[in-house]
Amino acid sequence: MLDLVTTKDHDESRQGEAFAPFEKDPITYRKHFYIESYGCSMNFSDSEIVASILNGAGFGATRDAEMADLVLLNTCSIREKAEQTVRKRLTEFKKMKRRKPGMLVGVLGCMAERLKSKLLEEERLVDMVVGPDAYRSLPNLIEEAETGQKAVNVLLSRDETYADISPVRLDSNGITAFVSIMRGCNNMCSFCVVPFTRGRERSRDAQSIVRECRDLFDQGYREVTLLGQNVDSYHFVADHDVKPVTFANLLERVAAISPLLRVRFSTSHPKDITDDVLHAIVKHENICRYIHLPVQSGSTRILQLMNRTYTREWYKAKVDRIREVIPDCGISSDIIAGFCTETESDHQDTLDIMLYSRYDMSYMFFYSERPGTLAQRRYEDDIPESVKKRRLQEIVDLQGKLSWMSNREDVGRTFKILIEGDSKKSDSAWRGRNSQNKVVVFPKADGNYARGDYAWVKITGHTQATLIGTAISAPESDNG
Ligand code: SAM
Ligand code: SF4
Repeated sequence: MLDLVTTKDHDESRQGEAFAPFEKDPITYRKHFYIESYGCSMNFSDSEIVASILNGAGFGATRDAEMADLVLLNTCSIREKAEQTVRKRLTEFKKMKRRKPGMLVGVLGCMAERLKSKLLEEERLVDMVVGPDAYRSLPNLIEEAETGQKAVNVLLSRDETYADISPVRLDSNGITAFVSIMRGCNNMCSFCVVPFTRGRERSRDAQSIVRECRDLFDQGYREVTLLGQNVDSYHFVADHDVKPVTFANLLERVAAISPLLRVRFSTSHPKDITDDVLHAIVKHENICRYIHLPVQSGSTRILQLMNRTYTREWYKAKVDRIREVIPDCGISSDIIAGFCTETESDHQDTLDIMLYSRYDMSYMFFYSERPGTLAQRRYEDDIPESVKKRRLQEIVDLQGKLSWMSNREDVGRTFKILIEGDSKKSDSAWRGRNSQNKVVVFPKADGNYARGDYAWVKITGHTQATLIGTAISAPESDNG
């Protein structure tokens, strides 16, 4: 799999995952929905809002599409391949519908706006098309679709944040949760379809975010990831207030809930991450020392074509500043290979900036032209696929080496680990993450721990993706 590398944020193993919340729910539901989610964590988080709205309308969830009255696909448009996967699934559901004529099929999320008429009228693949800002209208749309009409709402909103809806936690480990803090994006990166599919940027009410995080903590969750396309531009002004809440303010408010609650965030646009945010991280032990800082390309010429608004030198200075203020900070990136007009020398600049930034991990893609974007309108997608793939492979190989080296440097160090569950390879070992977002495994026999506990682990070995260690007793300085 070349065009997408598995990460926590865009986890390849979770693509198409179906969830069944309310499994222990004593209520017997008359109707059931089945939901498959694709794309980034934002989409997975949206599925939790959808589940909450549907549950309010009397639907239970099922993991078995065959027993569902309503089948939903929460879709992603970011790359062509993501769209192809969804279309294949829709064709399969169309066949299922022949056997179960009463079943409704709906497309949610980013593909909705772009493909509504194609999916509804031309190919007749679905009964409902619902955009990311229209989930509140789902119960009405379902009623419409039940009468045989095609139900559509793809209107984008300037203020919808679903602030008042408590998401139903889907596929939850009960320890870590995503909390959406803003929607949409005002940046116009020329390769990106998000501003068109998810609309203008809007920040969610700070109080409702803090309340949701506190509720999660009270339910036993020990880590929240504050989510948005560009979290550092979070800016909320309450009606009764003149002073805005900035992202740094919000981070501090969430961190103050409890020292036992870890706080992460994703994603940071390099242009917006300020010293305030860096200082907030340093000030609170429970704000994780980890910043996702997507570079996209190491060439200033390509960055300008991408409309990223920074140069190679500016980005490198930002990396320096992060390392100066937070010396133990983990840094990861997003990288695109083969953007329009990219030369071998531009590509070398990308490899070079990776070496300079010493990323612990990266999300790596080859450029995929998206309809309607600035790049599609202005530039020719002129790099042959074979060249894109070769360059991407070089980027992937280099990242492999950087991750290996970064992990090797951690051998002998001790980290505080939040235990998330069993190790994927063995149920006699725990799996958790350190503040820098690295996965750490250690034997259960090392002590009396449970999921959601913190353990101090001394690193004794590693692979490219995982640190391996042994639990030791907590240092006296540990206050959490
Ligand atoms: N808002 C985030 C940011 O600016 O860092 C990124 C959100 S986007 C969902 C995730 C990543 O997908 C981007 O950082 C970019 O690397 C990649 N991406 C977006 N459009 C792409 C395209 N047309 N082709 C290939 N990769 C793309
Ligand atoms: Fe897309 Fe750029 Fe917005 Fe990220 S910041 S969602 S890459 S337009």
